[in-house]
Formats: sequence, C-alpha cells, structure tokens
Amino acid sequence: MSETEKTDAQLKTYRQKRDFGRSTEPEGGADGNPDAPLFVIQKHDASSLHYDFRLEVDGTLKSWAVPKGPSTDPREKRLAIATEDHPIEYADFEGVIPEDAYGGGTVLIWDRGTYRNNNEKDDGLRAMSDALAEGHALVWLEGEKLTGGYALQRIDDDKGHWLLIKMDDTEADARRNPVSTEPDSVVSGRDIDQIAREQDT
Ligand code: MN
Repeated sequence: MSETEKTDAQLKTYRQKRDFGRSTEPEGGADGNPDAPLFVIQKHDASSLHYDFRLEVDGTLKSWAVPKGPSTDPREKRLAIATEDHPIEYADFEGVIPEDAYGGGTVLIWDRGTYRNNNEKDDGLRAMSDALAEGHALVWLEGEKLTGGYALQRIDDDKGHWLLIKMDDTEADARRNPVSTEPDSVVSGRDIDQIAREQDT
C-alpha cells in the first residue's frame, strides 16, 4: 500500500461522517512531518464540552476526546476516549462545525506544538504506532500551555477508554490548572464565544 492509500484508509471514518460541502473542516491529504510531529488540543463546545487531544502519527492525527481536558498534576488521571483519525490539516482548524449527525459545535485551538516520542527501550526507540497498539505510549509535549511528559494508558480496549496522565517531571505543576485559567485560543487569542459569533462574518 502506498502512503496515500494508507492515509485514505485511516481517514475513511472521518470522511464518511462529514459533508465537505457544508463543513469547512479539511478533507485531508497533506503529508505530515515525521521529524517534528505535531500535537494539538482543541477545545470543542459540542453537546458536551470536551478537549480533543491529537498526535501526529504516520501521516494522520490519532485522536482522543478528553472530557475534563489535560492536567499538569501527575495525580490527576484524565479519561481520554479514542475517536477516529483526523487529517494533519485539522491541527489548523478553528471555527464552527455545522450541526448534523456527528454533533457539530465550536472548535478552538487550545494548545499546539510538536512532541517527541518518549518510548525508550533497551535498543533504541519504540515507534509511536507500536506503543499505541500496545496500549501504553509516552510523549514529551512542546506546547504553549503544556510542556513535558505525558502518558497515554489504555484501560478498556472495547470502549476505547484511555487515561491521559502528566508524568512526574520538571514540568509537572499541581498548582496550575490551565484548562480554567488559560481558556483562549493559542492561535487567535479568541474565546469560544467569539469564535462562535464570528463564524457568520
Ligand atoms: Mn470533539
């Protein structure tokens, strides 16, 4: 299978759920950059507010919905529910998704940057895709709000339930609570209500 065919297969569910005549969300097709893979966290005001945590892995964004958002406190384990792969260009998406079968709602780029694969093993580095397939993956985030190590631990394969946990490193800080103290977009500086209002202009 070519890289394009592989990406098309990974994005099948994403594309089936969307009508690109109605939604301004990207259809996908751009290549990633394996040397500096992206992460993005999108605050998504849908039927219930959540934070979509996405990691670039092998040409698409692996995605989880985190109802409470990420924490900087290693004692706080946050539920992360696996969702369909999204295209790389989704890391630039901020705006309003029309209401329809898959929910709709307003999306704000809450944090964004690159990450490093932190899955060390005796003879080098485990590939991110392998670590995720095994249900335990470590990343080092270089974002504007979040930095440092995070673990993704699968707890229920059938339900797609994982935990997102801050590693206890120099960047851990139990006193910070960026989800509530830093709510605005790192790209536009807007809050979620502004994005919703400005969609029509
Ligand atoms: Mn979402």
